[in-house]
Amino acid sequence: MRYGIVLDEVFLDHSVPSGHPERPERIQVLLETLAPLRRRQDIASVAPKAADESAILAVHSAEHLERVKATAGREPLALDADTHTGANSYETALLMAGSAIKLVELLGAGELDSGFVLGRPPGHHAERDRAMGFCLFNNVAIAAQAAISLGVVERVAIVDFDVHHGNGTQNIFYSRSDVLYVSSHQHPFYPGTGLLEELGAGEGRAFTVNLPLKAGSGDFLYSKLYADLVSPILLKFDPDLILVSAGFDAHEDDPLGGMDVSVEGFVRLTQILNEVARKTAEGRILYLLEGGYDLNGLSQSVLASIQTCLNGREPEIAVTQEAETEGYISKARSTFSQYWKSL
Ligand SMILES: [Zn+2]
Repeated sequence: MRYGIVLDEVFLDHSVPSGHPERPERIQVLLETLAPLRRRQDIASVAPKAADESAILAVHSAEHLERVKATAGREPLALDADTHTGANSYETALLMAGSAIKLVELLGAGELDSGFVLGRPPGHHAERDRAMGFCLFNNVAIAAQAAISLGVVERVAIVDFDVHHGNGTQNIFYSRSDVLYVSSHQHPFYPGTGLLEELGAGEGRAFTVNLPLKAGSGDFLYSKLYADLVSPILLKFDPDLILVSAGFDAHEDDPLGGMDVSVEGFVRLTQILNEVARKTAEGRILYLLEGGYDLNGLSQSVLASIQTCLNGREPEIAVTQEAETEGYISKARSTFSQYWKSL
């Protein structure tokens, strides 16, 4: 087992206005918390690498790339109400996206089995033509497209457990059948998209799977949902690579999210997704950091997630809201079973 981690002080360089939740301290706490773990023999520390413009342009418009590029070396700017840049944000965003591509390549070459890109800015709200929701470039979409373009794989599954819906990722692949997008997210909530009925279009019909969840959903619902619904859909899709938009803002202490997921819940999700990767993708699974704004909740969840990948671990999930959970799963199943016969 070789596990690759990209985590570097360079990701502190994307500066945001004071009081902004998506702040450099998120990386600082990960550098501190993961320091002992990173000394393990089975962990490879991989240096960040900037994405080529061509990799960005495979997913984003030239106008969008130019808009973000134009912020380089400049005074702080706001690209939308909550998406900001500083002098080094463009470069940092290229490093975040490029590091994901680099790990995809190392997974494809068999040099690594799995890994985690622990950088910022996050990506899943970034649309083809605009920055949005703290996100400049859509890192997971860029990595998925690169994996396919480079011939590393043919089919990619993107699983997004960030508490927010990944509108950008969904839209970029909405008409594609070679990239499956599965998202569980709080609803109603920012950005407002991600209804059950948003299923993909044309050839991509059924290859978008949205699981909107009520605020207050916790470990038991998430665990059942991933075991009973997400896992069989992923197995049926049979990806060659799984990319995870790993946001930890569904954590019970998160100041933005309203969910009740504990570290144990994230361990269970990691365990389920890793098992699918072993069955379908020769174990190839890559986690990319998205949200997660409580520094302790974020760092403990990331630590436990990596430990689960390295050692396996049996989390303790208490049974709660059982009837409500079963009701939700049977409703979701009736939406998806016409497309995914394994349900
Ligand atoms: Zn989020």
